[in-house]
Amino acid sequence: MIVFYAGLFLLMLALFLFWQSGRTQKAAGLPGGRVIYTDTHAWGKVEKPLYDSGLGLTGKPDYLVEKNGRYIPVEVKSGHAPQAPYDSHIYQLASYCLLVEKTMGSRPPYGIIHYEDRDFAIDYTQELEDALLDILAEMRRDERREAVNRSHESGARCAKCGFREVCEQKL
Ligand code: SF4
Repeated sequence: MIVFYAGLFLLMLALFLFWQSGRTQKAAGLPGGRVIYTDTHAWGKVEKPLYDSGLGLTGKPDYLVEKNGRYIPVEVKSGHAPQAPYDSHIYQLASYCLLVEKTMGSRPPYGIIHYEDRDFAIDYTQELEDALLDILAEMRRDERREAVNRSHESGARCAKCGFREVCEQKL
């Protein structure tokens, strides 16, 4: 049952982040990301999801890289790299950094978002962690609300959305 609720929480987190993705990086003070070159041979597959009962949060980064005794989560995205990583991708990676710290006992200095043609390192700063924790708290508040309103006016976004069939606010 715990796994069910954890899975549900992650699903809702994904939905919430999608809703919130209209927020600008500047507004949230997110790090923009540094382009880096990585050796994919050093990436290790993650077998089991990471889970923290205190946060009620679970998630599985695509890979972990060990560097100087610390673990760096890697999130793989299909498609070409945008000019800068999307906020939703940064928050997803930040949630993996948080889970790595909680479950493995050491804080990743950064995480990696891997697009087809470029990798970005995202510094896991205290500001990013605080912004993520704010979102998680806001999401928990929204869980108790009857309805959460759409935060954008983009028909194109709704057209590609996986929740389109069940969403009452689709454009
Ligand atoms: S269909 Fe549109 S409004 Fe509904 S969740 Fe998806 S993106 Fe948001």
